[in-house]
Amino acid sequence: MVILVINAGSSSVKFTCFDMADNKKVLASGLVERIGIEGTTMKYTNHKGDEVKGEVNVKNPTDAIKLISERLLDAKHGVLKKLDEIKAIGHRVVHGGEKIKDPIIITGEVKDTIRGCFSMSPLHNPHNLNGIEACEGVLPGVPNVGVFDTAFHATMPPQAFLYGLPYNFYTENSIRRYGFHGTSHAYVSKAAAELDGRPYQSLKIVTCHLGNGGSVAAIKDGKCQDTSMGLTPLEGLLMGTRLGDVDPAVVLYVMKLKNLSIEQMDNLMNKQSGILGLAGIGSSDLRDVEAAQDKGNEQCRQALEAYAYRVRKYIGAYTAALGGLDILVFTAGVGENSSTMRASITKGLEGLGIKVDPAKNAVRSPDPRVISTPDSAVKVQVVPTNEELAIAEFTHALVAK
Ligand code: ADP
Repeated sequence: MVILVINAGSSSVKFTCFDMADNKKVLASGLVERIGIEGTTMKYTNHKGDEVKGEVNVKNPTDAIKLISERLLDAKHGVLKKLDEIKAIGHRVVHGGEKIKDPIIITGEVKDTIRGCFSMSPLHNPHNLNGIEACEGVLPGVPNVGVFDTAFHATMPPQAFLYGLPYNFYTENSIRRYGFHGTSHAYVSKAAAELDGRPYQSLKIVTCHLGNGGSVAAIKDGKCQDTSMGLTPLEGLLMGTRLGDVDPAVVLYVMKLKNLSIEQMDNLMNKQSGILGLAGIGSSDLRDVEAAQDKGNEQCRQALEAYAYRVRKYIGAYTAALGGLDILVFTAGVGENSSTMRASITKGLEGLGIKVDPAKNAVRSPDPRVISTPDSAVKVQVVPTNEELAIAEFTHALVAK
């Protein structure tokens, strides 16, 4: 069964086409970038390794889906004979609010729910919906499935999702913790249990998704109990460009002090803070900051320590929240690739039963692996995330029913 996975953003549409029957093989993948801006380009790669890159005439998501369909059928580089080989389309959708707890077939009602979350996810949900509607137009009759970043966190108990605002802000305005990166936390926690060999439903797991954005999740018996992102992806860890946890009074103080509008403050907290703002070398990429630290840049060292310390605090907090810990998982760009950051985060956690083996930690590999010592009470793993595959699997499972 062929499943197309679509991730539609503000100016890009990413796609991956899977053949689930052929060992979940990626038939083709790529993206259309700078949609609606000058210099729109498309990159397309198929399973034979052919790569097609270049400028394209794409003005909107519908044009993008049409072009992706054409490439998939292309006589030279295509991977399908007919479009109706695509049996379902899985869409990444960021915010599903309180209603959506699982991957779901898109209906008019589901689209209303996605629209209802526009104000909480203005940078993602409108574009996600555009991607869905583009597919409905270009590939009529093919079921569309929404896989929501918030869905995995829907099992959080009220003690974890309530903010300390008056209760009616929750009941009337749905202001609460939702959490994001749920598809990744679900995927890597299940993969971690598999690698470990113990049943998923019996484990206490903390997953650290450390990419440009970052979040930590606490999972018990296969259900999410807490996560560091909140109503929006701004809460929690120090990230590439987001500041994460902060005294809420700082927001008001800075706005008054610098005479900033709501939009300016939003931009400051989302796009100019975190590693970018703290390290001060004009880059949010941890590789650049680590390289500057290695050359003796003290501000970069402090930024990296602050980043690691924040993750370490969440690991401690979530170990307490779960009443213990069986597996600690690192994933995403930083979590999978930076052995220095993993070592820094886990430094001094022997008292919590977390002992990382420096030699194992130093190994680079695309495979899931254990990096703790044999006598470490908590197993520490690096598990590469694969959100596209997770979306394809959820979509396949739903339509195969
Ligand atoms: P996104 O959140 O955009 O999906 P990724 O999960 O791909 O991001 O993570 C991207 C980030 O991962 C980069 O900004 C970079 O900071 C970090 N990264 C990637 N490779 C390395 C590496 N070898 N060492 C340190 N950091 C890395």
